[in-house]
Amino acid sequence: MEKAPINWTNMLLFSLTPALAVIMLPLYGYYYGYDLYEWLGFIGLMGFCGMSITAGYHRLWSHKTYKAHPFLRFVFALGGACALQNDVLTWASDHRRHHQYVDNNDRDPYSAGRGFWFSHIGWILRHYESGKKDLSNVKDLQQDPILVWQSKHYLSLVLLTNIGLPALLGLIHGDIIGSLLLAGLLRLVLSQHLTYFINSLAHMWGRQPYSKGSSARDNGFLALITYGEGYHNYHHTFQWDYRNGIKWWHFDPTKWMIRTLSFAGLTRDLKRCSLAQIEKAKLEMQYRSATEKCERLNIPENWRLRLEQEYEQLLHTLQMWTEHQQAWYEAKGKQLQESLGHWDQLQLQDRYREVQFKLKVQKRRWQLLLRNLTDPQPYPA
Ligand SMILES: [Zn+2]
Ligand SMILES: [Zn+2]
Repeated sequence: MEKAPINWTNMLLFSLTPALAVIMLPLYGYYYGYDLYEWLGFIGLMGFCGMSITAGYHRLWSHKTYKAHPFLRFVFALGGACALQNDVLTWASDHRRHHQYVDNNDRDPYSAGRGFWFSHIGWILRHYESGKKDLSNVKDLQQDPILVWQSKHYLSLVLLTNIGLPALLGLIHGDIIGSLLLAGLLRLVLSQHLTYFINSLAHMWGRQPYSKGSSARDNGFLALITYGEGYHNYHHTFQWDYRNGIKWWHFDPTKWMIRTLSFAGLTRDLKRCSLAQIEKAKLEMQYRSATEKCERLNIPENWRLRLEQEYEQLLHTLQMWTEHQQAWYEAKGKQLQESLGHWDQLQLQDRYREVQFKLKVQKRRWQLLLRNLTDPQPYPA
């Protein structure tokens, strides 16, 4: 099959920048060295680029998981140009297609089905049919004057942020080349490849606790180097959620930043998926893999029945819990308006807590059952 034509601009850019970094950085370091100021400039610009892509390009513009103040949108637009990952309109258009046609080799611009190299960077290096520019899916974003402005002046912004900004940092410090190499070149190469890992590795390496509908995986290690985007299975399952890591111990600095900025009024309307929906998705996955295991290990029928019963019961309790939780929240609102008595409110609260306790006990039983299925025989009939 004939290969797609090479995109020479990208081919040169993505070959020359890493090559220059590998040669120039150690040489300059050997002869002149880098000091703390230059390393801090590097870290600062890494965060600026990385978070502009994850919080701005990805969670704000591609998925609209929250709303942001124009000032913040302006900062993200600058940071995205600094990351040299195209303008927001093109990036978000590609990304929305990635979610819509995920793993479809003909329509997903960076389909992981075409291998690590293609999904990581190969898709940028040639004019593939699957990567053809079509902005019809970002008409909403074209209404934002900041994005139209960014698109119009993209090249100037790239030069300003990639050369002007590090040079300015160097000028203040008295060593322009050192800053250009660290905060400019090394930062550019690293920030690009770290983002690309989300398209490549995060679709190949890790767990799938929420859905097997796509190749996306949850990977705590990748989250550490992608500002929290490593929880990619969750993200592909609940893409409208502003969080990727949902537990408090999950490393998701993008989520922390979006939430913190909401206290200053810079972000608002942060969307979250309900806990019941998340639990339900997880439960379905556990049930599916447990039934597959039953088939594989030829586990006696009564165990399969028990599994099915527990699953049905747990789903039912989860549904009840959602309803009671909703009723209680509504009651709290009504009590504030003083249209509901204190006694009624207490009753609702008690019922909600009862169902919550029931759910906890059933979940514990479910986990025990799953663990027993993992154990080797015997399975008493
Ligand atoms: Zn996404
Ligand atoms: Zn993905």
